[in-house]
Amino acid sequence: MQNILERLRTLPLQTHRGISFLSMLGGSIIGWICTQFSERLNFVLVICLVCAIGGIVWHIVFVRCPYCGHHFNPRASISNYCPDCGGKLE
Ligand SMILES: [Zn+2]
Repeated sequence: MQNILERLRTLPLQTHRGISFLSMLGGSIIGWICTQFSERLNFVLVICLVCAIGGIVWHIVFVRCPYCGHHFNPRASISNYCPDCGGKLE
């Protein structure tokens, strides 16, 4: 488990940002479509909720500065340098 986390941390920030964004967007859209067909909480809706919340958690855990741990604004684009410590980002 620790090994997987270490390997995931070496991925570029933009990749993590994409995973987080797609997970949140996909979970929300498919979840919303599910609510149009069924009023009750079903299995697919639970999976969508987990995806949407997972996307947020993913952003909090992985989309941060590797030097100082600064969290980036999810709505703003990431520049080449950390706005907090000035470290160069990949
Ligand atoms: Zn930083």
